[in-house]
Amino acid sequence: MPEWIMIDEKLTTTGSEGPAKKSGIVHEEKERKLIQRAYRKLLRSIKSEMDETDRVMIRNAYEVAVQAHSQQRRKSGEPYILHPIEVARICAEEIGLGPTAIIGALLHDVVEDTDITLSDIKERFGTNIAKIVDGLTKLDASFNVESPQAENFRKVLRTLVEDVRIVLIKMADRLHNMRTLGSMPQHKQLRIAAETSYIYAPLAHRLGLYNIKTEYQDLCMKVTNPEEYREIARKLQETKRERSAFIQGFIEPLKEALGQLRVPFRITGRPKSIYSISNKIRTKKVAFEEIYDLFAIRVILDVPRQMEREYCWRAYSIVTDVHRPIPERLKDWVTTPKSNGYSSLHTTVIGPKGRYVEVQIRTERMDEIAERGFAAHWKYKGGADQPDVYDDWLDSVREVLENKEADAVEFLSDFKSGLFKNEVFVYTPNGDLKVLPEGASALDFAFSIHSELGSRCKSVRINKIVKPLGYKVQNGDQIEIITDKNQKPTEGWLKLVVTGKARSKIRSSMREERRKQGEYGKEALVRKLRNMKAGFEENVDMLVRYYELDNRPDLYYGIAMEEINLQDLSQKFTLDGQTLTEIAEPTEKIPVVEEPRTGKLTRKAKKQASFKPRLMINDQPANQFHYTLANCCNPVQGDEVFAYITANNGMKIHRSDCSNGLQLMARYGYRVMKAEWVHAPDSSFVADIYITGVDDGPGVIKQLSEQISNKLGLNIRSFYIDGGEEGYFEGRISIVVSNTNQISHAIQVLKELPQVHTAERRSQEN
Ligand code: MN
Repeated sequence: MPEWIMIDEKLTTTGSEGPAKKSGIVHEEKERKLIQRAYRKLLRSIKSEMDETDRVMIRNAYEVAVQAHSQQRRKSGEPYILHPIEVARICAEEIGLGPTAIIGALLHDVVEDTDITLSDIKERFGTNIAKIVDGLTKLDASFNVESPQAENFRKVLRTLVEDVRIVLIKMADRLHNMRTLGSMPQHKQLRIAAETSYIYAPLAHRLGLYNIKTEYQDLCMKVTNPEEYREIARKLQETKRERSAFIQGFIEPLKEALGQLRVPFRITGRPKSIYSISNKIRTKKVAFEEIYDLFAIRVILDVPRQMEREYCWRAYSIVTDVHRPIPERLKDWVTTPKSNGYSSLHTTVIGPKGRYVEVQIRTERMDEIAERGFAAHWKYKGGADQPDVYDDWLDSVREVLENKEADAVEFLSDFKSGLFKNEVFVYTPNGDLKVLPEGASALDFAFSIHSELGSRCKSVRINKIVKPLGYKVQNGDQIEIITDKNQKPTEGWLKLVVTGKARSKIRSSMREERRKQGEYGKEALVRKLRNMKAGFEENVDMLVRYYELDNRPDLYYGIAMEEINLQDLSQKFTLDGQTLTEIAEPTEKIPVVEEPRTGKLTRKAKKQASFKPRLMINDQPANQFHYTLANCCNPVQGDEVFAYITANNGMKIHRSDCSNGLQLMARYGYRVMKAEWVHAPDSSFVADIYITGVDDGPGVIKQLSEQISNKLGLNIRSFYIDGGEEGYFEGRISIVVSNTNQISHAIQVLKELPQVHTAERRSQEN
């Protein structure tokens, strides 16, 4: 393996070749002060109660870490020790963790990067701290091996069920690395961002670390989509004044009215995150200027625990007296909190100038849980009368993890699908409350109670009425499961369920079924090879590869199902001792540029030969590699791109913001290589523009194409229009361009046509 594939190095450089060396003693003194200042800042940030032992231990951990990292620097050139100190500060101040976690954070990199061993830590700080440091070291190590990201996710989860604190410290570590990503080369930034949005953002969400999740998403977007990020940031800055004035006008009358409550309260008006604004622009297809709820108003009451509900509702009634509410927009997570502990009342009201404004009403305790999630939840545990929401969740994670057979990638997509979902509340026939993700079916419910109940599920009764197994449960449903001992899960069931637990149980039961079927196939293969006088072990794995399968069970199953015909073997192979050798066939060369799918109306561009752009991969001219441009996002010159090494088809070049590419990058990050365009004025590329609009008469194709070719002089490579009902159409125009500017122009002139509603360039979703 060439060494450039091993790219997961740490964010550090060792040795003293950094800028400090040059400036000598003066600089050293400066750095010592810098480190001390950072440490004092950390101490100030600790909010939890500490005794003398805690203070001494933190001091010791700090001194050990300073000593251990003294020869190391970060990529930015600053002393490495500033990183663990800052991670500890994030743990204390932004997550609200206590002394144990702070000590763990200070020591989180010493075992991995320095001479200090785990038993040194154990001796000085005890088993508890040693366990945390060990967990963090292992988590880091797992990310250096060439395993799919799904496997990494699994390791994170395994750590999570052991000790949640380890994962929380890891989150702080990742947050600091993301905040200081600027000094890393761009392709590494992309990989770290992909992993963050793939693993850490959903987990932060599930653990209720709302602020951290939001910051992760913003920082990821800054890397993967820097232009849009800067654009929204700029517009937010420009509209800041106008927005504050509006918020002021909205809050003023509220403040006065809420005074009637005679309890302390505060009101905040915060802008939404750049990521969430960009999401809105994309999904709702509106311009920045058309988004009204760029901020959320929060009313936070300071009342004792037992009066929380009463005061939240009283505040609600006051808020809706002052500003008229939109009744169907009321969400009540005060009566039944979300399963990550979140509770709050949300309502949307009509503010000045008729603008919709979301108001969130909660108490200080709820606010702390909303922002710090798990960590804060812990603090308030004990007094709670409700079942512990995290214990339940961690139990279910444990259960999914126990299924060792599950394939890592399957496991991940199963598990992740539940992380960002809303929830529904349903009841067993005994009246026990169960929380399921939105979209869950009655069958999911059965599996959530017990896997045996799910596997044997024959029919279901919802509120006493028989419904199909795939019935999507609604809030308040009472569900009764009727079983039959002869029932077995089938492939079709996978379409009926959404929860990770149900999916993984159905899969493992099907795998078992498949294995049974496969035994016949295996016997047939053994017989056939014996007849051919060929060995079994010598050939079986070669045959797996020959039929492009993943493993032996698939081969056996294929033979059993007669998808693979063993009669052909004698024609396709000759015998060399015990081993089969393939009779060579002339192979075709894989084309470099993929043809677009043909639309109803296709025009070929004249010069196809010039499509190959001047691209650099890993700082080498791209033409010495076998590569193709990904046709999910059709990158063109000027796009930010990266190269992805496919399993058997050379390299694919994706745009940095391509959603397919990000998925691949996250799963197989080690296959990502740096790629960039170099100045090459004469090359041309194909870009796809997606359009929607209303076809109000004949000739829409003609008008669209004239707009492109006559007005801009661009060549159309292919054109595809799909007419829907009532004249609505969707289409794709592939045009030949030489840079991103021409694409923007094309989009602009297309939008000028009255028939066109939207025109945009995007990755194909699948
Ligand atoms: Mn670290």
